[in-house]
Amino acid sequence: METKACKQCGTSYSFTEQDTEFYNKISPTINWVKQNIPSPSLCPDCRQQRRLSWINQRKLYRGTCAFSNKPILSIYSPESGYKIYDYKVWWSDQWSPLDYGQNFDFSKPFFQQFEELMKEVPYPNLSIINSENSEFNHNIADCKNCYMCFGNNNLENTYYASESMYSSNSSDIWWSGKIENSYEMSSCANMYKCYYCYNSDSCSDSIFLQNCSWCNNCIMCFGLQNAKYYIKNKQYSKEEFEKKKQEMNLWNYNNLQAYITDFHNFLLTQAHKCTTIVNSENCNGDYIFDSNNCENSFNIVGVKNSKNLYEWWRVSNVQDATFVYDDEWYILECTGVFGNSFHILFSEYVFNSSSNLIYCSNMSNSKNCFWCVGLRDQEYCILNKQYSKDDYEKIVSKIIDYMKTTWEWGEFLPISTSRFAYNETAAQEYYPLDWNWANEAINFIENKWIKYKWLNKDYPVNIPPTMPTINANELIVDIKDLSEEYEKQLLNSAIICEASKKPFRFTKSELDFYKKLNISLPRKSHDVRHMERMKLRNPRKLYDRKCDKCEIDMKTTYAPDREEIVYCKACYEKKTY
Ligand SMILES: [Zn+2]
Ligand SMILES: [Zn+2]
Repeated sequence: METKACKQCGTSYSFTEQDTEFYNKISPTINWVKQNIPSPSLCPDCRQQRRLSWINQRKLYRGTCAFSNKPILSIYSPESGYKIYDYKVWWSDQWSPLDYGQNFDFSKPFFQQFEELMKEVPYPNLSIINSENSEFNHNIADCKNCYMCFGNNNLENTYYASESMYSSNSSDIWWSGKIENSYEMSSCANMYKCYYCYNSDSCSDSIFLQNCSWCNNCIMCFGLQNAKYYIKNKQYSKEEFEKKKQEMNLWNYNNLQAYITDFHNFLLTQAHKCTTIVNSENCNGDYIFDSNNCENSFNIVGVKNSKNLYEWWRVSNVQDATFVYDDEWYILECTGVFGNSFHILFSEYVFNSSSNLIYCSNMSNSKNCFWCVGLRDQEYCILNKQYSKDDYEKIVSKIIDYMKTTWEWGEFLPISTSRFAYNETAAQEYYPLDWNWANEAINFIENKWIKYKWLNKDYPVNIPPTMPTINANELIVDIKDLSEEYEKQLLNSAIICEASKKPFRFTKSELDFYKKLNISLPRKSHDVRHMERMKLRNPRKLYDRKCDKCEIDMKTTYAPDREEIVYCKACYEKKTY
């Protein structure tokens, strides 16, 4: 085992024998020569930050399609300098990415040449695949009638969802699956008609749950299984329960706010589980389900033999990757790999059964490509230029040898060359930097300060400048009071968010959803609501802490200074079952 110091933050981390074995296996053989990938120079956290700086998951802007000049919605700000096509044009045969082919220039660093190529080749405005009536979304596939959903698949009539799948008629959900007729969920599965539920599964007709399974008609409960008619973990008769629920009048905005505070105070009285690892063997991290042999991984389902993964579903033999779904194998340092891809290295956005890609961006159904951007159905390309198999292998070997001399081989694309400003990306959500820091100092690597891009302007997406405004704290407190006339007024106004003071809007289908589910009108913008939801979730970091019951040493995502009571797995299970 080798102990290394991170080149960016100085933290020490280990590169184990299993890691060496994995790196050996995944190092590509090109032109009969094995091109060994060196051990990483950054710690897992800094690698994750670097990858996230390439993902703009939620910021949308108004722009113009560079092909048709038609107005579009886009993840690229007007000043990004990238060539953006409407995604329908981008996926069509009206243009060819091979028209941008270039020769390798051995006098320039690789990352500089790659950044130049990315500025030449068009990118799609949004990633919307096989979806219907869902224009105001990004990174979605197989969705219908969705609005402001980011990073989801198979959703229907759903709003403000992130990283969720197979759900319908719901709003405000994060990393959840099979959710129906529900509102405000995080890390939940198989929920029906539930509101404000966290880390729970298979519950129905309930409000304010955490760590509950198979419960119905419960309010404000923690850690219950198969419970019915419980309030604050206390059982009531059906009649008493209904009466109490009526008295609580949760659908009134002011009451609801008081109960949200009450729920969070109630949670502080309960003993929490150190981590959530379900039906899995030899794993460490948090929110791990049906997985084996996974280390330092968070929010993963059905994963095998992998390490440093964040939000993966059904993959194996993967290290250092974020946002990847469905049958992927042998992947190292990538973001956004979807649909049956194999052996992908240091790449971002790879779709549709791609394989053997190294340093590629935005690729679909392509094989054996090196340093390419935006290719569909291609093979043996370098810098978007096609070669014979023999020539491809010879040139790639030469480039890799060159990259070894510039210390770029084995490094993921640097933050400074990202297509997005740091504060537009998921990196800002998980590794927030403030304005000054990002403008002044930035990142000290290899004895150099490197500047990150930073966006200083706000661009409200959906608000015409002359639109009348309503302060959110003046909205009706009970959705039952939503008259036809008031609804008309809401739809023609910008609402000023109580927290951020930025304008947001309601859509007709969203108001219908609130009416149907009896939800009082939110007074904060969906972005603020998302950030608050993210704050409720534990960080993706394991701390050393002692069990509050038996005092055994344990790893947990609850930092030692947090006020919750936290039990080891054994003590938690003794308490619950
Ligand atoms: Zn580091
Ligand atoms: Zn214990």
